[in-house]
Amino acid sequence: MTETRWTSSCFRHRIFSEEDMNAEKFDHQAIEKKWAERWIAEKTFEPDIEHAEKPYYNLMMFPYPSAEGLHVGNVFAFVGSDLHARFMRAQGYDVFEPMGFDAFGIHSENFAISINTHPGRLIPDNIRNFTHQLKRTGNMYDWSHAVETTDPAYYKWTQWIFIQLFKAGLAYQKEAPVTWCPSCNTVLAAEQAEDGACERCGTLVEQRNMRQWFFKITAYAQQLLDNLAGIDWSEKTKSAQRRWIGRSEGAEVDFPLAAYAEKLRVFTTRPDTLWGATYMVLAPEHALVEAITTPDRQQAVQDYILEAGRKTAIEREDATREKTGVFTGAYAINPVNEKQIPIWVSDYVLMTYGTGAIMAVPAHDARDLEFAQKFELPIRVVVEAPEGESLGFVGDGVSVESGFISGLPTSEAKAKIIEWLEEKGQGKRTINFKLRDWLFSRQRYWGEPFPIVWRDGQHEAVAENDLPVLPPELDDYKPTAAGDPPLARAADWVNLPDGATRETNTMPQWAGSCWYYLRYLDSQNDEHFVGKSAENYWMNVDLYVGGTEHAV
Ligand SMILES: [Zn+2]
Repeated sequence: MTETRWTSSCFRHRIFSEEDMNAEKFDHQAIEKKWAERWIAEKTFEPDIEHAEKPYYNLMMFPYPSAEGLHVGNVFAFVGSDLHARFMRAQGYDVFEPMGFDAFGIHSENFAISINTHPGRLIPDNIRNFTHQLKRTGNMYDWSHAVETTDPAYYKWTQWIFIQLFKAGLAYQKEAPVTWCPSCNTVLAAEQAEDGACERCGTLVEQRNMRQWFFKITAYAQQLLDNLAGIDWSEKTKSAQRRWIGRSEGAEVDFPLAAYAEKLRVFTTRPDTLWGATYMVLAPEHALVEAITTPDRQQAVQDYILEAGRKTAIEREDATREKTGVFTGAYAINPVNEKQIPIWVSDYVLMTYGTGAIMAVPAHDARDLEFAQKFELPIRVVVEAPEGESLGFVGDGVSVESGFISGLPTSEAKAKIIEWLEEKGQGKRTINFKLRDWLFSRQRYWGEPFPIVWRDGQHEAVAENDLPVLPPELDDYKPTAAGDPPLARAADWVNLPDGATRETNTMPQWAGSCWYYLRYLDSQNDEHFVGKSAENYWMNVDLYVGGTEHAV
């Protein structure tokens, strides 16, 4: 390999021959073609994966092969990454710079629908075009290790990984509220809806309960947070991740209900402000809403819930939006002073954070204050600010008007009230994470089928030697209005000879793009998703270039 490695002398003595230099006109097309062919013939950019002396893994986020072909934004990013790779190569490293295609997913499927073709025909054409265009860039890709997420030899391993997670209890399914576009007939991610409307088609979205698959990423919340310390990323990306994981320390507090046996559990980072809790708020989706709403309030509450269903989590978290809400007619009892406080429903409380219910302390929380002022609810100052106005103060100060914790600084007040709650069995110290489990299923055609079958109402993994599970050939692959996955149309595929039925949801695009950097190293391996020696030799990736939008 040494003789074809780039050095500065390459530029003087090898790239431009005497003939090139003496030509009257610089014929770049001929020169590019000549060298591109020679690089391929000599396998110039194919490092010896097993014996490279100085391995350097230069990874670029792989593209989604759109029908339009490579756009200048792709090339802009790829050339930057390639420049670095060439620099490292000139420094004597055996640089591995692979390329591949992230070709499953809703974008491909929607485009195929829009031009009335089948994604199974569209995607191979797109990949051919992208490959041709990428070769023309002259970037030093090792095409002998290229991968396509839609290749059965690739997604066999995507399915295999799913089975391992399923067997480890890290992949599970449950009913979950999802944002649904009734026109696209699919579940949308939170960022795919704006002002209650679908980003793609403008239709008003709805909340629906559907059976979905999840990955239990919350089991790794603390580990994900701790390990950020050892990662060489920009501080901006790290803090975006920290916010996304959203660790907070506080307490769970149980509020008895005035007219029911149930208790209302809330999470708060400020248990020291319990004396200032003058009302409670439930998320519209909270399981207790229906049970506790008094008959005279039923209609108003139902109307409100329907309206709230049109808003996305992102809009609901927007602090600048005017607060809305409705009184349930029910009351809770504040455990520290036995006072009855009203229970409201409002969409500024999210079911996905904490317990989906809050104790509202309007004097010391901006959103609660705005809500209390609008609906004329009581406001009680219980923390004295070190200086300036105490009403609206959200930092650490000294507890006032707070029974046995009055006079204590915030940190001591928190410790004392948590101890009291634990003694009384009314609450406990808790760490809460904003991170939720990962919704990992789609009711669409163009994705990996789940390697799962149903038998007598129970689900089980497909035997590993039956992988890959290929999708059925479907002429009509379009999503259905009822939200049932289109794979359900293929009766012959769904119903197995032994009476079991196949899972008909499919995996989202991320399934294949989560692990491609491992497959590149050993793309032909039939026995393992990556061989141990290739993995040990090349991992971790030395440089990864990707968008910050993938940080959270
Ligand atoms: Zn839509």
